[in-house]
Amino acid sequence: MAELLVRPAWSLPPDVHAFVSTRHGGNSSGDYHSLNLGQHVGDDAAVVASNRAALLQVLQQQSGAAALELQWMQQVHGTSVTGIDKVVDAPPVADALYTTRNHIALNVLTADCLPVLFCSSNGKEIAVAHAGWRGLCNGVLEAVVLQFRCAPADIRCWLGPAIGPCHFEVGSDVRDAFLMLSRETWMAATKAAFTPGPRPGKWMADLYALARIRLQKSGVTDIAGTPQCTVCLADDYYSYRQQQVTGRFVTGIVKVS
Ligand SMILES: [Zn+2]
Repeated sequence: MAELLVRPAWSLPPDVHAFVSTRHGGNSSGDYHSLNLGQHVGDDAAVVASNRAALLQVLQQQSGAAALELQWMQQVHGTSVTGIDKVVDAPPVADALYTTRNHIALNVLTADCLPVLFCSSNGKEIAVAHAGWRGLCNGVLEAVVLQFRCAPADIRCWLGPAIGPCHFEVGSDVRDAFLMLSRETWMAATKAAFTPGPRPGKWMADLYALARIRLQKSGVTDIAGTPQCTVCLADDYYSYRQQQVTGRFVTGIVKVS
């Protein structure tokens, strides 16, 4: 893989475009090589700005829309959803963005956490969420579903590249936090999302399975996106577990018409 942007294999309404950036085609060097889009990770700010400009250019070419804008957020592993009516230059402190507007590309930056895209089946509403285990556990995905005007059954979701159960080792505290919040109906599925790790007291967690449970609990049934482990695929995506000083890639969605 050498391209700058990848299009998810995800069925979307006309004029809605989803995208995932890779490590390729940017100007960052060293640990950030090469398309780092995170401004908070120690990379040169001017170089990151040039990478963001390159992303925008390719996105405009691929979507056929000339005047797109990128909306970023300051992610804090919380559950806040910010509604966007026009692009805000100072990124809002939030872990999810929602809009009904055209030409605003909503972005989530990750390097192992799970990016989740949302789109109403009529194409009028879109959203992104940043779901690390903490945000997922505390309900960031449920918070996004509540923002939608359409019924949950009319929301389509896509789960992007994230650390897979092959590499995501967690302590019992993480498993306990999910189990404590699981009602009987979801207990077996939640337990199945954790398998005993190679080290005592450690578990391998499946963020994809946990996200599916939370979305299904909220009434969302149309969930696409097969696991793509960022650690296994560290040549193409950034992984914090693989390399503590590293960049961030973007997963996003935009409406054009
Ligand atoms: Zn892996």
